[in-house]
Amino acid sequence: MQFIDLKAQYVALKEPIDAGIQRVLDHGQFIMGPEVQELEHALAAYTGAKHCVTVSSGTEALLISLMALNIGPGDEVITSPFTFAATAEVVVLLGATPVFVDIEPDTCNINAALIEARITSRTRAIMPVSLYGQCADMNAINAIAARYGLPVIEDAAQSFGASYQGRRSTHLSTIGCSSFFPSKPLGCYGDGGALFTDDATLAQAAREIRVHGQSARYRHTRVGVGGRMDTLQCAVVLAKLGRFEWELQRRGAIGARYTQAITQSPTLNRAGVRPVVLRPDRSSVFGQYSVFAPQRDALQIELQAHGIPTAIHYPVPLNRQPAYARHCCPECCPAASEASRTVLSLPMSADLSEPDQDRVIAALDQVCA
Ligand SMILES: *Cc1c(COP(=O)(O)O)cnc(C)c1O
Repeated sequence: MQFIDLKAQYVALKEPIDAGIQRVLDHGQFIMGPEVQELEHALAAYTGAKHCVTVSSGTEALLISLMALNIGPGDEVITSPFTFAATAEVVVLLGATPVFVDIEPDTCNINAALIEARITSRTRAIMPVSLYGQCADMNAINAIAARYGLPVIEDAAQSFGASYQGRRSTHLSTIGCSSFFPSKPLGCYGDGGALFTDDATLAQAAREIRVHGQSARYRHTRVGVGGRMDTLQCAVVLAKLGRFEWELQRRGAIGARYTQAITQSPTLNRAGVRPVVLRPDRSSVFGQYSVFAPQRDALQIELQAHGIPTAIHYPVPLNRQPAYARHCCPECCPAASEASRTVLSLPMSADLSEPDQDRVIAALDQVCA
């Protein structure tokens, strides 16, 4: 069993993917070819955002967003410590300071109720992460941001396709950033990403920053980066959009099936295994399907022995990582610390079969018995 089954997806989409790649090989416009704009239009339409700017990765989408907002030395960006390193990395790369606000213990997303107390005169943005494919409490976060005139950047690297009160992830705040890393819910076959915004000025800034700050050929209006998404990867994402809605339905159904099986198992209840909570006003694309398990490390080893691959997202919160610890005391985010000791992600992909999922659930039951 695979933790994420990308091969079955390729088999199902082989014709459109191969044809899309072949078209790029034939026209030869490997950088900024027609598929780039085609994908940007398709993704903007899908999310409802006015502007989509594809970039070379999810990390680059975050970096370019902060650059478009002129965030730099002396500035503070409020974010979650319970995320992939890229979220805070881009802040530090620009000379700004990540301010870590603890998470909700049940969803593992940033705790909006704790944000306001951490706002200072240096705060320049709030950057929630839609962890495991579920958005944070964006209404509450946007309301706080509006009171202080702050932009909100959603790190939607794990949540493309998710909805929050009927609106799509990436189109819930000033800027939304997603990733097309192969294992994300909408992935390409290399690195890729995109940022989304309704703000034409920010979109234009992002378009310039991704091509070395050029407002016209060889006119470098600002400092930028080499941050384009290449045409081949855009062609792959375009082909994958062909069955994306079906995949989202599958992911939702598989997630609901895990949740039902886990919450209804007396053995797992006794062992304290419970799912990460999904709030009723939003859907998750289950970028990861994660549970809390008190005996997590032992459980992971025993599941491995049963042939069940699992992963830990994330074993150390960023405020306790050597590179970021100076921005926060080790015990300032107790809920993140607790989650890092107990979370475990189970196999999840649109092509996970029911028998395979039953094997995962049966193995969980067996090792917890
Ligand atoms: C994957 C991920 C990123 C980075 O995306 P890349 O495309 O790998 O650069 C950023 N934030 C989160 C939460 C992620 O999961």
